[in-house]
Amino acid sequence: MKRLFEIPATPLVPVRGETAGYPVHRIFGVGRNYAEHAAEMGYEVDRETPFYFTKPASAIVPTGSEIPYPPGTSNFHYEMELVVAIGAPAFRVSVEDAAKAIYGYAAGLDMTRRDLQLAERAKQRPWSLGKAFEKSAPIAEITKAADFPEVGSQRISLKVGDEIRQDAHLSDLVWSVPELISHLSRFYHLVPGDLIFTGTPAGVGPVSPGDRITGAIDGLQPVTITIGAAE
Ligand code: MN
Repeated sequence: MKRLFEIPATPLVPVRGETAGYPVHRIFGVGRNYAEHAAEMGYEVDRETPFYFTKPASAIVPTGSEIPYPPGTSNFHYEMELVVAIGAPAFRVSVEDAAKAIYGYAAGLDMTRRDLQLAERAKQRPWSLGKAFEKSAPIAEITKAADFPEVGSQRISLKVGDEIRQDAHLSDLVWSVPELISHLSRFYHLVPGDLIFTGTPAGVGPVSPGDRITGAIDGLQPVTITIGAAE
């Protein structure tokens, strides 16, 4: 069947050492995956089960971009996160086998319209307006898993201008990367092109037009954005 019209192309994320890009299929986000962040949001960590939200692929924007202050919010927040890129199909995989599905890792930002998310949360509604919107997932280049040490002692941090606002270690993750992949694969057929934003440490906060945000994880290219004028 012919296409009635064209839609935006699948975004590509650069990969260190490759000329070809990693095409993005889906984006999963993990909620409350660092204990201190769960506490600052008014919750204790739930060790029974992780939970998720999704963003459209159109949320992807490359590091170095200026992203507009989005519509509908007056409390636009950064969340610095480790992103896992899936590189092999995974369905009902064990925690032990989950690592085989990992293509690589990247530094990413789960930009959030916090006022809308909290209003949705208060009314027990989905977080779509708060989380799933255009340019809400800035991401740096992917480093292949073989070129990245075991996830653990790496520092994860975020600066607004020169001020450090988030500072933790990947060992603080409540649900490990293999645990997340194994759990998600009980509900989805994970495929290459799927990204998992693994949650943010404590210290989330608002941004304003003109702010420069830099998120870093040891061993990965940092993710940097500038906040543009309100749309
Ligand atoms: Mn997040």
